[in-house]
Amino acid sequence: MTYIDQLREALGPDKVLDADFDRFSYSSDFSPMGPGEEVVPDVVVLPSGTEDVVKVVKVAREHGIPITPVGGMTGMLGGGLAIRGGILLATHTMGDVLEVDVANQTVRVQAGATLQSINDRLEAHGLWLPHLPESKWSATVGSSIASDNDSTFGMRHGKILQPLLSVHVVDGNGNSVEFGHRKSRFTSSGYKVKDLFVGAEGTLGIVTEATLKVEPLPPYRRVEMIVMPSLTRAVDLIGHCLRSGISLEAAHINCRHRLGFYTHAYKVKHGHEPEIPDWAGALFSFAIAGDKEVVDFQTDWVLRQGEEAFEGQVVAERDIVDSWWTSKHTLDFEAFQQKWPASQGEKKFGAADVGVPMGELERFYEEGFMVLLEKHGLQVLGMGAYLEQPNSIGLSLSCAVFVDYHDQAQVDAVRASVVDTSRKALEMGGTSTTYMSDTYVKIDTMREEAGDALEYYRRIKEILDPYHIMNTGKKWEDDPRPAGRDEE
Ligand SMILES: Cc1cc2nc3c(=O)[nH]c(=O)nc-3n(C[C@H](O)[C@H](O)[C@H](O)COP(=O)(O)OP(=O)(O)OC[C@H]3O[C@@H](n4cnc5c(N)ncnc54)[C@H](O)[C@@H]3O)c2cc1C
Repeated sequence: MTYIDQLREALGPDKVLDADFDRFSYSSDFSPMGPGEEVVPDVVVLPSGTEDVVKVVKVAREHGIPITPVGGMTGMLGGGLAIRGGILLATHTMGDVLEVDVANQTVRVQAGATLQSINDRLEAHGLWLPHLPESKWSATVGSSIASDNDSTFGMRHGKILQPLLSVHVVDGNGNSVEFGHRKSRFTSSGYKVKDLFVGAEGTLGIVTEATLKVEPLPPYRRVEMIVMPSLTRAVDLIGHCLRSGISLEAAHINCRHRLGFYTHAYKVKHGHEPEIPDWAGALFSFAIAGDKEVVDFQTDWVLRQGEEAFEGQVVAERDIVDSWWTSKHTLDFEAFQQKWPASQGEKKFGAADVGVPMGELERFYEEGFMVLLEKHGLQVLGMGAYLEQPNSIGLSLSCAVFVDYHDQAQVDAVRASVVDTSRKALEMGGTSTTYMSDTYVKIDTMREEAGDALEYYRRIKEILDPYHIMNTGKKWEDDPRPAGRDEE
């Protein structure tokens, strides 16, 4: 009996797909891929919950078959591609919200629930899970944990670790286990093993369920933008806000190139470019939410300080401000009218995600982003810095380019630039990834960043995935066998 027959027997035939068309449907995500670069898994499984996942892992373990778990497959660096073949475990069939505990403000979900679907359920109770990337319609809670993605509301609510109370995981041995405390908001007991699964990309186990804390929905929100003379002045203004007790809910800094991303929508609507001052070096966009009186006071204060003390200019055109908030959050845009013309036709979006210390932002932009794009001959889309730490200046950079997917040389250049950009961030005391994780593209920079800690990573992997079947090829590409197993 083949392992695929065994999967059919264990799960039932409807949950196991091995027809060419089905397998091809799961062969690409949103990462730059050239012609014919699709990665077709050998078989796709559609589990209903933890028990099914245990069955799949046990079969895979017996035969040494790699398993790649996926959510919405909107990852932008290939984390969800089955690059070593084997089983692709799709989680969209485990998308239930299992419990909304209104009194304790928690939610229990299956890992394949999308962030939007969770919020749709919470809204009726006046609650929300404020972990919301732009891709919230397809991004799942399992992949948010696995890739440690960014959220539009990171400035106030942080990343997924902030609300994550517990994870239920099936590890590479086929064991099913809950890590974390389900409803108390924090704990000092034991080891915080649940945190290991954040950013692990499924290489330590498959997340099947999670409990998260949720918050009361804010009654009112204001969204504004200020054109700033430089990236550094935008960072300075945010620092001033924090010192002064302003509670920013969302904060983004965009470089001057990325301004065009938002002014394009204005041009489409009005037939002409908006007036942007020649001296514009950056765009600071922010949201403040809560009670109207408090929000209005704080927002007006930020706008006044931005102009009077930090040489900025408030963006008066609501269409530009709305275009930022639409793309980040509300997303009710008219097809083909927003952002860049034909952006999903001739050319697509490619990006490197890195983090740099706050004092290095301007230097990274000039000496990292711009210089590296020139070296690789890539077309600039722009650099955005998303603030992802609650009440702190924690920068997650999206270094974006246009890429023609029909041109293999360009796709290769994007991958090379991602590695170079990560290395540059490391040189500046930063980190090689902030929202996509390492995938198979950044294995070398992951190792450089880990240094001596790599040996401990290996030992952890040995405990949780001793057969190296969990998302094989990611993070550990050139070390498919754990240390010491050759002697066995
Ligand atoms: C238009 C667009 C906008 C985007 N906006 C943002 C943004 O604002 N912020 C941001 O950070 N990212 C953004 N992204 C990137 C991407 O959407 C996010 O990183 C998101 O988290 C990926 O979710 P997914 O469900 O599609 O994950 P997938 O691509 O399916 O998987 C991502 C990783 O998670 C692993 N994984 C998935 N499920 C599990 C599980 N249950 N257990 C263990 N591992 C698992 C996969 O193996 C893979 O390594 C955007 C992408 C697009 C296309």
